[in-house]
Amino acid sequence: MRVYITTPIYYPNDKPHIGSLYTVVLADFLTKLSKIMGYEAYMLTGLDEHGYKIYRSAKELGKSPLEFVDEMQKYFRESWERFQVDYFRFIRTSDKQHEDVVKYAIEMLYEKGYIYKGKYAGHYCVKCEAFYPTSKLIKEDNKYLCPIHNKEVEFLDEETYYLKISEFKDWIKSFIISNKSFITPKGYRNEAISYINELGDLSIARPRERVPWAVEVPFDKDFTVYVWIDALLNYLSAIGWPDDTYKDFWPATHIIGKDILKFHTVVWPILLKMLDMEPPRRVIVHGFWTVKGLKIGKSVKDVIDITKLYVDSLDNVDAYRYYLMRNAPIEKDSELSLDGVYRVYNDELADIIGNGFRRVTTLAMKKSVVRGRVDPEVLEKIRNIIKDLNGVYSKFLPSQYVILTLKVFKQLNEYLQEKQPWKNRDENILYNALFIAKIGLTMLYPILPETSKKAMNIIGTPLKPLKYVFLEESFYVRESPILFPKIRD
Ligand SMILES: [Zn+2]
Repeated sequence: MRVYITTPIYYPNDKPHIGSLYTVVLADFLTKLSKIMGYEAYMLTGLDEHGYKIYRSAKELGKSPLEFVDEMQKYFRESWERFQVDYFRFIRTSDKQHEDVVKYAIEMLYEKGYIYKGKYAGHYCVKCEAFYPTSKLIKEDNKYLCPIHNKEVEFLDEETYYLKISEFKDWIKSFIISNKSFITPKGYRNEAISYINELGDLSIARPRERVPWAVEVPFDKDFTVYVWIDALLNYLSAIGWPDDTYKDFWPATHIIGKDILKFHTVVWPILLKMLDMEPPRRVIVHGFWTVKGLKIGKSVKDVIDITKLYVDSLDNVDAYRYYLMRNAPIEKDSELSLDGVYRVYNDELADIIGNGFRRVTTLAMKKSVVRGRVDPEVLEKIRNIIKDLNGVYSKFLPSQYVILTLKVFKQLNEYLQEKQPWKNRDENILYNALFIAKIGLTMLYPILPETSKKAMNIIGTPLKPLKYVFLEESFYVRESPILFPKIRD
């Protein structure tokens, strides 16, 4: 089976922040976990480069929009690389191939009669790139403010083109209700359904003179395509749609923040249906990270620069990846705490994982090769710990997965304590301890890929899917490093 996992694409008008990092790390975790579960997995991420907001940010800096996004994209690539994220493609919506796909899709929707011309008058928040009905805005001194940004919205009165999404209200409602695993966690299903009741047709074009930095509407050169439609289509253009290659990937698993639920669970499946495409397999939704109560979402300005986050405090990417994945439940907002990062680093990475690894390798280093047989009792204990793995995978419970991994290392420490191989020098005990370590290190790969690969290399066994990990093999241990030096404060 092939698994196709996506993150939203990010506006490059700011550097990446903790909100985008969280989605990317979760997507990378799911991709790597799928791989060790024996699946082929591909992760897509990238940038949403068009639209008024980018156009205006570039203009303020005296740059062309393309110059501006070319500069900004490197911050994203560097950050994701630093956090050990592997993607098969980093898409940018200013790629010509993507722009052609957008034009093709819009043309197709037009020919099928799903698009009509109309007028739009309403309040618009540039930061959200979205219209708001008056009822959703905050009124202050005769001004209307965006409920997310607390900044004055603009009033726009212009011609546009609409997409007839309201024709599919009943269809999308019954689709969400009958496909229980489509939206995960399930708490967000009702929220998605609540959007459907007030669903009107969607304005999908902007006058070119106001928003010149966007894909041209193919049948009317005075208009450009609304950035959200442009952005959603990245999930198809990245896999070669409309060419048949897309069939090797589709349907996708989308990982998103809760602020973009409506576009991914209501608008997107309808758009796909209009294009004769299957809906996504699944949409996984996570909450926000807050810092002293301040929400950090996709388009909020008050963000934490990722570089500041890890270089200025604790220069250890592993600790942050581990902390983010250990957080539960993913659907709730969580308070980011550096004390929390230090705590899991010291108590779990250093004391449990690092300590177990250090003890077993110190003993094993004295032999050039460690051979043996897996003790049935050891095997049973390990199988018992990981028996819930399939459920954790299919329900997408990262923190549960971290806890299972931790349990394997706890088992390693207990085994060493009980058998005391430093006393009796029994090679088979050492072999079994290394066997437990191998399972734990394999499971560690989706959480801490670099550490996992490095440690597997030290015990002389390559990383492989979990089903092959139980095969017996000899170990060649060369050194015994401290994987996580303790932090003293
Ligand atoms: Zn806003």
